[in-house]
Amino acid sequence: MRTVLILGAGFGGLELAARLSGSLAEEVRVVLVDRNDSFTFGFAKLEILFRGVPPEAVRVPYAGLAHPGVEFRQEEVTAIDPRTRHVVTDRSEYEPDILVVALGADYDPAATPGFADDGHEYYSIEGTCRLRDRLDSFDGGAVILAVLSVPFKCPPAPYEGAMLLHEMLTRRGVRDRTRMHMITPMDSPIPVSPDTSAAIVEALARRDIEYSPGRRVHALDPSRHMAVTRDGDLAYDLFIGIPKHRVPDVVEASGLTVGGTDGWIAVDPRTLETRYPDVYAIGDCADAPVPRAGVFAEDAARTVAAGIAAKLRGSTPSEKYLGRGVCHIEFGGGLVGKVDADFLSGPAPVAPFSAPSEELAREKAESAAARLDRWFTR
Ligand SMILES: Cc1cc2nc3c(=O)[nH]c(=O)nc-3n(C[C@H](O)[C@H](O)[C@H](O)COP(=O)(O)OP(=O)(O)OC[C@H]3O[C@@H](n4cnc5c(N)ncnc54)[C@H](O)[C@@H]3O)c2cc1C
Repeated sequence: MRTVLILGAGFGGLELAARLSGSLAEEVRVVLVDRNDSFTFGFAKLEILFRGVPPEAVRVPYAGLAHPGVEFRQEEVTAIDPRTRHVVTDRSEYEPDILVVALGADYDPAATPGFADDGHEYYSIEGTCRLRDRLDSFDGGAVILAVLSVPFKCPPAPYEGAMLLHEMLTRRGVRDRTRMHMITPMDSPIPVSPDTSAAIVEALARRDIEYSPGRRVHALDPSRHMAVTRDGDLAYDLFIGIPKHRVPDVVEASGLTVGGTDGWIAVDPRTLETRYPDVYAIGDCADAPVPRAGVFAEDAARTVAAGIAAKLRGSTPSEKYLGRGVCHIEFGGGLVGKVDADFLSGPAPVAPFSAPSEELAREKAESAAARLDRWFTR
C-alpha cells in the first residue's frame, strides 16, 4: 500500500481523492487534509449575495465523504518540505509516497492600498456576508466593480457579479439612482473566447454598466472615497474589488514557487509534476497555462490520477493535461451561458460560447449536483 497525501479538499483535491478511490483503492491509501470541516462551491457566494441563501445552506460537510480508502483529516497544514515530502500540520506529521498540493489561492487585499479599509469583495464567505449586509442599506450612488489584479478565480465571476447586482438593484427600485462602472486591467472579459467576451460586453452595455477594459485601480483613498487610476481618480459610494490572488503562505514558505511565474507553483504543464520527485500541484495554486477555475483544477486532478496510476504500475503516463473545462456564466433573469474551453489539446486554445438560456441554468445546477455525488458518494 502506498500513501497519497492530498493537501486541500477543494475542487482539485476532492476530484483526485474520488478518482484514486475509484481506480486504485486496492493499491493506495489516500489521506485528504483540509482546515475546514466542509466544502463550498465558489459560485455559492453569488447565491449568498444575491439570492438570500444562508452560508450554512451551501456548506457540504466532509463528514459525508464515503469513498473507500480515503481518510479525511481536518487539520491546518503548517509546513511542507517538498524535497522529503515531509508535511507538518497542527495535529500531525506525514511522509507520504506521493504528495499532491491542492491548496488553492489566497487573497492579498493589502496589495491594493486602502482596499481593506474601504472596499468590499465577494470572493470569501466573510467578505460576501459583509457585502450582503452593506447592500441591504445601499440606497443608490456610484458603484465601482474592479478587477484589481490578474490572475483571479473564475474569469466570468466579476461580470456575473455586475449583472446580478444590476438585477438586484433594479428589483429593489434603486438602480435608476445608481451608476455602475466595471473596471479591469484585461483587454477583454474572456480573452480565449471572443464570442463570450462580445456577449458579456454587450450585456453590460444593455444594462447601462460602464465598462473600462485595460484600466487598473492602483489604490483607494478611503478619506475621499476615490479609486486611484493612472487616468485620474474616480469617486464611489460603494467599491467592490476582486482582490489580488496569491499562493497560501505555507506554499510560499515551502520553496515550491521557485521557478513559477509571479509566485505560483512551477509545474510541468502536461503532467502537473513539480520539480520535486513524486510531488504534484493542481488547481489555483499551480502555474499551469489555464485560468484559475474549479473546472481546470478538476481536469488537472484527472491527469494526476492517471499519472499516479501509471507510476504505481511502472508505466509511462498516457494522459497529458489538456486544460479543458466548461464554465457556466450567470447573466441574470435565471439565464446562464456557457463557454467550453480547451486550452492545450490543439495548436491554439479554443472556447466556443453558448448563449444564455434556462436550459443551461438547469445544466449548471445538474453539473454541481453530479460533482457532489461523485466527490462524496462511494
Ligand atoms: C465568486 C466565485 C465564483 C466562482 N464560480 C466558478 C464556477 O462557476 N466554475 C468554476 O469552475 N470555478 C468557479 N470559481 C473558482 C473556483 O472556486 C476555484 O477556482 C476552485 O475552487 C479552485 O480549486 P482548488 O482545488 O485549486 O482550490 P480550492 O477549491 O480553493 O481548495 C483549496 C482548499 O485548500 C484548503 N486550504 C488552504 N490552505 C490550507 C492550509 N494551510 N491547511 C489546510 N487546508 C488549507 C482550503 O480550505 C480549501 O478547501 C468561482 C470562484 C468564486 C470566488
